[in-house]
This record gives sequence, structure tokens and C-alpha cells, in this order.
Amino acid sequence: MLSVIRSAALVGVEAVPVEIEVNTGELGENGLWLVGLPDAAVKESEERVQSALQNSGLRLPETRTTINLAPGDLKKEGAIYDLPIALGIAASTGQLDRSFLKHYLIAGELGLSGATRPVRGGVAMAILARKSALRGVILPRASAEEASLVGGIEAIPADTLDGALRFLTGEAKVEPLTPKHAPEASSADGQPDFAEVKGQTAIRRAVEVAAAGGHNLLMIGPPGSGKSLIAKRIPTILPAPDAEEFLEILGVHSAAGMGLADARRGWQRPFRSPHHTISDIGLIGGGSIPGPGEVSLAHLGVLFLDELPEFRRSALEVLRQPLEDGQVTVSRAAAKVTLPSRLMLVAAMNPCPCGHLGDRRRECRCSPMQVRKYRGKISGPLLDRIDIQVEAPALTLEELRDAAPSEASAAIRARVETARVKQRLRFGNRTGGCNALLGGRELREYCALEKAQGDLLQQAMEKLGLSARAYDRILRVARTIADLAGAERIATAHLLEAIHYRSLDRN
Ligand SMILES: [Zn+2]
Repeated sequence: MLSVIRSAALVGVEAVPVEIEVNTGELGENGLWLVGLPDAAVKESEERVQSALQNSGLRLPETRTTINLAPGDLKKEGAIYDLPIALGIAASTGQLDRSFLKHYLIAGELGLSGATRPVRGGVAMAILARKSALRGVILPRASAEEASLVGGIEAIPADTLDGALRFLTGEAKVEPLTPKHAPEASSADGQPDFAEVKGQTAIRRAVEVAAAGGHNLLMIGPPGSGKSLIAKRIPTILPAPDAEEFLEILGVHSAAGMGLADARRGWQRPFRSPHHTISDIGLIGGGSIPGPGEVSLAHLGVLFLDELPEFRRSALEVLRQPLEDGQVTVSRAAAKVTLPSRLMLVAAMNPCPCGHLGDRRRECRCSPMQVRKYRGKISGPLLDRIDIQVEAPALTLEELRDAAPSEASAAIRARVETARVKQRLRFGNRTGGCNALLGGRELREYCALEKAQGDLLQQAMEKLGLSARAYDRILRVARTIADLAGAERIATAHLLEAIHYRSLDRN
């Protein structure tokens, strides 16, 4: 008897349909005959499924049984098909009515006892089920919790094979899960806050401008100037993600197998800070079954690269595509996978190899040549994607002690949100709603300068030796500063501040 069960495979952060056909009653030697999985996964899968069936009090087929996972050429991870295979066997041997199976997308790993284990991609599977007009998904509880956030489908939790079976036969009633992570559930308790950053008014201002316009940011300063402290707090001044964005964020994290544990932190944007020894694949994604890397895990949030010149040159090179396109394409054998990566890059570096150039507290021992070489590690094209470069001075203990109490994140966020609303009204979604992505005709239209301002910018560029590419960057940042000030047109003061944010170009 043939049963067909719907399941899915993860490709990048999306789920694609996989059909599992189980056919019992064939001629030949008794046993399971599994096709469509990588060879290495087949044996383990068979063993888990047989053991789970037995330990759940179910009969194994007494004939030769073929299990086919289609399409065969799609790369699949073995373990997530344990639950649908086991249910398929139960249906084919008359222990479960097949007609109920077709309404659900089913996935889940099984332990030998029949208990389920969560799988990656609960969000993506729920989206696929909704698109396929199914009634819902049946997934291990943690995965079903993720799936429940999608809405429009039933998210049925299955703690055991037996539980899933009893739900499908109608023996046990299982309520679909309702989403727990509504926006109002978010709380600022225990989160880092800008109120804890003393002094550093210039950097705080630059960070606010960067957040308001979605600009990438580079902070240059000696150790102890608070660069990491500041970077960590940037998500707290970005606008809260709306429901759609939250689902996008969760979708990526769920596909990486770190869904809900991470989402429990609340309704906020991701902050990722990979170490400089990270591999190219770790950064942009990949692997034999391509999964998201750090640039995708930072999607709609912040990617913080501390000690930027220490990163491998190749890693900095591969960053260019995600920064430019807001997505990244990972090629692996025959497959090409596109992953989302619309992020705000925040980078930090020391001013020189020893870290103390310009530091009043300690003397720098680097030669001008060493300083040039160190700064030269960051290629021009990457630097070109960073609109705002700002110097973070080291503060003396007295300066820190005397610094006025700092403004809290909520107050800064309110100004950032107001500036973002202005941008959205102006561009809609055309530029991702941000000045940072402004280009071409719109740049000329919304960043128009008066004649005297144009001359001023030209002179500043010549005097500071700025590259021609810096020109548009300055205009975009000036637009954001004007938006923060609630000004229709860019004023000369806005322009001057924007010119000031090109620290590295001047060397
Ligand atoms: Zn030095």
C-alpha cells in the first residue's frame, strides 16, 4: 500500500517541497529500502525509525518496503525525515488513516525512544505550508513554536511519534500553538543601554546619524575608547522591527538552527560580532548544504567587525556583495543559493598597529610607514561602502568622571525613528527606506545643494584630498543629518558635519 507524506528540505533559508513515498507489500526480502538520501544518512535513519516505531508500540511492515524521498537530486539532511517516514510506514501498514496525512507538512528527527528532536527551519516550513494551502505543519515542539509565528496555518507540536500518531488518528486532541512573541512582549530589561556610555559625545552623535540613515560606520580609536561598548548598543537605537521584519529575522535564525532560543531575547534586531579569524564561509554562508553565515544572521540588524584590519583580506572582499546588494549568493557544486543580508555594518579599528596614535595617555611607537600599511589593509572599495568614519578619542579618568549623565537609548531611538519616517515617506520602499541606499536621480533630487554649498564641498574635497567616490557618500549623510534636524533642504552646517565623517580618506 502506498502513502505519500509532505515534507521539506531547507535550501538556504527557504524550504522546498519534498515528498516521501512509502510503499509496503512488495515482493522480495523483508525490510526497509530507503532511497533519495545521501548513502551515509540512510542506515542511521532506518535504525532510528525502526527503533522509534517499536518503542511506540507500532508494527513494522512484514514485507519489503520502499521509501523514496523525492526529488532525488535535491541535497537533503537525513534526520529531519524520521518522523514523516515513521508516520508513512504506520499509514502504509493500516495503523493510520492516510487521508489525514495530506493536510500537513511534517518533519522531525526521532530518538530511539520515539521522542522527537527539533529541526532547523520551522519558520521556512510554515511559510511553505501556507503557500501550498495546507492546513498546517506537524513539527517537534521547539520547531512548531517557531512555525506558529508565521500565522495562517496550524502549528501542531509533536513531542513523540506516538503523540503525532494519536493526533492524526483523532485519538488525542492537540491544540495548535499560538505565537508567544508578540511585539508587546518585548522588554528593555537587562538590555544594554546608551545611558551606560559616558562621554564620547562626538561618537554618540555619529552613531545616531548612522542609525538614522542606515549608514555603515567605522570607528577609529585606541583600545579602551569604548568602541565595542558603543557598537553593542546600536541595535537599541534602531527602529524596532515590524512583524514582517521580525519573521524575516527569525526565518534566517531558524534556518541556522538557532531560532527560538535566540528570539527569546525579545523583539529586537540581531547583533552579530564574529571574531577576526572567521572563515569566508562562516562570514557569508555556505557548507555542503548551504546555510546562512554571519552576514545573513545580521540581516536587518548590525554586523560588528572589531579590529577590522585583522580580518583576512579575502573575508573583507567577500563582504562587498552583501553590502552592495543586500543579499549574498553562495555557490556550492551545482547549487546556487541566495541568502538575505540587508545589514548595517559597524566596524572598529585602532588608529595604528600599537593602538595609541593620537592617544594622550600613552605614546605611539609606530613609524608612519607602519601606520600607512596598517590602514592600507582595508581596501578602498570596502571603505567606499562605509559612509561614516569617525575617530573615538581615548578619555582620561578625569574626563570620564566629569562626563554628564548620558542620554538613554529610548530617547535616541525616538529621534532615529522620526528621521526614518521622513525617509520612508520620501522613498517608500525604493531604497529600503533609507538614505544610505540613495542613488542616481534621487540623490540629485533630494540632496540638491545651493551653488555656494557645491563650491564649498568641491573645495573641501580638494583640500582634504577626498576621492570622487566620497562625494555621493557625503551628500547622503548630509541628507540624513538634515532629516534628523527636520530640515527640508540640506543646510551648510549639515554638509560640514558630513564632510567631517570622512576621517580615513584624509590620510
Ligand atoms: Zn602606534
